[in-house]
Amino acid sequence: MSAQLVDAFGRRFPYLRLSLTEVCNYRCSYCLPNGYAADGRPRFLEQDEIARLLRAFAALGMRKVRLTGGEPSVRKDLPSIIETAAATPGIEKIALTSNGWKLLDTVETWRAAGLTALNVSLDSLDADRFHAITGHMLFDKVFQGVERALTLGFDSVKLNAVLMRGVNDDELPGWFDYLRERDTAIRFIELMQTGDNAEFFARHHVRTEALEQQLLDSGWVLRERAPDAGPAREYTHPDYRGRIGIIAPYSRDFCTGCNRLRVTARGDLRLCLFGNFGTPLRPLLQSDDSHDELTARIATQLGLKAAGHGLHQGDTGLTPHLASIGG
Ligand code: SAM
Repeated sequence: MSAQLVDAFGRRFPYLRLSLTEVCNYRCSYCLPNGYAADGRPRFLEQDEIARLLRAFAALGMRKVRLTGGEPSVRKDLPSIIETAAATPGIEKIALTSNGWKLLDTVETWRAAGLTALNVSLDSLDADRFHAITGHMLFDKVFQGVERALTLGFDSVKLNAVLMRGVNDDELPGWFDYLRERDTAIRFIELMQTGDNAEFFARHHVRTEALEQQLLDSGWVLRERAPDAGPAREYTHPDYRGRIGIIAPYSRDFCTGCNRLRVTARGDLRLCLFGNFGTPLRPLLQSDDSHDELTARIATQLGLKAAGHGLHQGDTGLTPHLASIGG
């Protein structure tokens, strides 16, 4: 059996989130409201570096990788990166988180390259609201792209909506209609405070409890969580083909079930989305000869993973916005 990454609290880490870029073409009000601004720092990881990184994590028991960003589909080499992941021994699941702007043009290519699961951000089912939140009139294109993706035999296609008070927290009935016949899940993510969005957070943060109570009152039932599952609590209902997920980072037991590690687009290992330090892996990604040193560094760092994040105390760690680390 291969090595396993286990931390001081007995948590296992079969799941890596790898950011491919910090660049995003959207201007989401809660993330990059003024758009991405280049800062002149070193370029993002190249394909050969990504291949070595994936081999090292897979040797340590990683079975699922999620490619994220920024917006990963702004990288022209995304199909080859997916192929690289698919060719890495040990990796069984390759997921992508995308804002969906490229889906209609390229989702077949990603699927053919070996992508097994897709998460698409869709903060509203209303085109005008979508425009107001993201800064783009792309609702129809994203919506149609998701319809196409649903025909391609992915293990899963899921949607993400950040729940915001007074912005999109009244859309549950519309989502019920959407889910009646579609084999997908909408996951409502509780708005998280980051270094840059304190004022927006104060105005629009809303806990997910009321929404979950609405689900229970409407006959939705909480499902058991798989070992390599993401952070969502997932609800099902006998009358609906689709599912509803709740991602509540402020809930008491959120970190207990953590099974994820992150690597930034410049190759820093981050033990937590809201951690206070990153460990540079890039120097060890320059040659195949560094494989053993790389796996040793990752395993040693894991000993430093904290039991939980400090969000409740307003400690957002190193994260100015989620595009900077890979949400
Ligand atoms: N660009 C891709 C996308 O839009 O899905 C991937 C990166 S994005 C940072 C990943 C997810 O994080 C998206 O679903 C986004 O809505 C979510 N996100 C970004 N900032 C957030 C925040 N402050 N609180 C909660 N979710 C956030």
